[in-house]
Amino acid sequence: MTSQSPATNPAAGSAKSMDAIMALCKRRGFVYQASEIYGGINGFWDYGPLGSQLKKNLRDAWWQDMVLRPCWGKTGPGGREVRCVPVETCIIQHPKVWAASGHVGGFNDPMMDCKESKRRYRADHLRYVKTTDPSEGRMFAFVEGDADTFEEALKRLGKYVKRTLGEGDLEIITDAKPDGQFLARVVGPHAKEAGTLTEPRAFNLMFKTYVGATATDDDVAYLRPETAQGVFVQFKNVVDTTRVKVPFGIGNVGKSFRNEVTPRNFTFRSREFEQMELEFFCHPDESMEWFTFWREFRMAWWESLGLAGENLRLYDTPKKDLAHYSQAGSDVEYRFPFTYPGFGELEGVAHRGNFDLTQHQQHSGAKMEYNDTERGELLPNGQRRGERYLPHCIEPAAGLDRGVLAVLCEAYTKDESRPSPEFMKIHPRLAPIKAAVFPLVAKDGMPEIAHKLHDELLRRFWREGLVESDDKQTIGKRYARMDEAGCPYCFTIDSDTLKDQTVTVRDRDTGGQQRIAISHAAAFLSDKLGL
Ligand code: ATP
Repeated sequence: MTSQSPATNPAAGSAKSMDAIMALCKRRGFVYQASEIYGGINGFWDYGPLGSQLKKNLRDAWWQDMVLRPCWGKTGPGGREVRCVPVETCIIQHPKVWAASGHVGGFNDPMMDCKESKRRYRADHLRYVKTTDPSEGRMFAFVEGDADTFEEALKRLGKYVKRTLGEGDLEIITDAKPDGQFLARVVGPHAKEAGTLTEPRAFNLMFKTYVGATATDDDVAYLRPETAQGVFVQFKNVVDTTRVKVPFGIGNVGKSFRNEVTPRNFTFRSREFEQMELEFFCHPDESMEWFTFWREFRMAWWESLGLAGENLRLYDTPKKDLAHYSQAGSDVEYRFPFTYPGFGELEGVAHRGNFDLTQHQQHSGAKMEYNDTERGELLPNGQRRGERYLPHCIEPAAGLDRGVLAVLCEAYTKDESRPSPEFMKIHPRLAPIKAAVFPLVAKDGMPEIAHKLHDELLRRFWREGLVESDDKQTIGKRYARMDEAGCPYCFTIDSDTLKDQTVTVRDRDTGGQQRIAISHAAAFLSDKLGL
């Protein structure tokens, strides 16, 4: 008999196949392994023509809805307008930034090495199983994975137990804390003998480099592990050089680097990835209201991009798991195929108090206080003295690559009855190809009309994404290709077009077709894309 924790017990329904999704991503040019011709490099991924456009569209959507017109123009607590400005800060900062933020001292994952197999594991990703036979009490560790991997691992362990110990049931220990005595009895995931796993050791996730030619210890610098700190160190400059007033946000988008111990699950945990972070500064008394506001808006934002339904949820961090400076935290989580039926973090919304500004004030000696002239003591002359304080910060921190992965997983749809048994239901706002134009056959003047329409749509929609045209292969194959690319609308020029200047529009999701005037094609697409 085996027991399973709720997190790994497959619920009704089943997860999509990650292998199938990855194969489609490669086949259609969404995601490639980095340095593939050299055998790849673990934890690094490149985006192909469709993937890079999809990623740009998601980044643009964030920028539009968080910086240019924050929260779709919705007002915040107390009917206040939500105001945000952008910055773009360096990947390499002064090393003291990371000492102040706590990353150099404490940005660690617990890591274990196996002396026998020479493999390395994250201690919090190992699960332990023991036989229920009390006289033996031998334990086996394996790497936590999706439900299938878990089942597979249990089967292998079951066989192993039978072979080495005779009959015995398995019991899973979820809260085991690996200490020396415990580990002496554990057989590692890829080992034959017990006691080959080292105790967990802290492993710093920061990528180290050297600035300048001498490469001595004094020249050590780090690639940033998050974009947020760039905002905190420029907070004063933004306040002093622009007209922003608390409450306001500063957005920062760009690459971050973490030397993850166990990069895995496609792009979910990479060593180089992109973040979209907003630091929203507000008065301490209003901070919980702003936290609630952002928590809800960020969930609504991901829903608006097609991640709605039971695959998306908001998870509130229990008080005991919050950082010492934090009053609240929630994660927007997506049910990825490899976390199914559990969820994986897409974005964290954190109430960071004034921790970061305090730290940078202490470490740099620069004054970070904000002078709030809308608050504070009213003077006899009718003016205010102004209240000085370190604003509190609410941080919605989203992963761009994880966002793209969630969009790809959600979009992947199987339907054997269609010309393409697999197709990608990507939200029209994010779809890399917005439309395609086909002549039904490459004769009778159809290609010329198609090329004219393609040209018109390209001129109108190039800011939104790609517009394709294709004269080759059967129309079914061309539709199938566009379905796999996630193109929401295909316009086809046929013999009727020659007579009545209408075209067929095919809807990717339903496969349904309708005829519209060719002169109406751009307006039709504009309407469907919500422009
Ligand atoms: P995790 O617990 O999964 O390691 P985290 O809590 O450390 O994530 P944050 O520091 O809050 O993550 O970073 C904000 C966002 O950046 C995450 O929600 C995630 O989307 C993204 N992110 C973090 N680490 C990685 C990574 N190694 N690869 C891809 N995206 C990442």
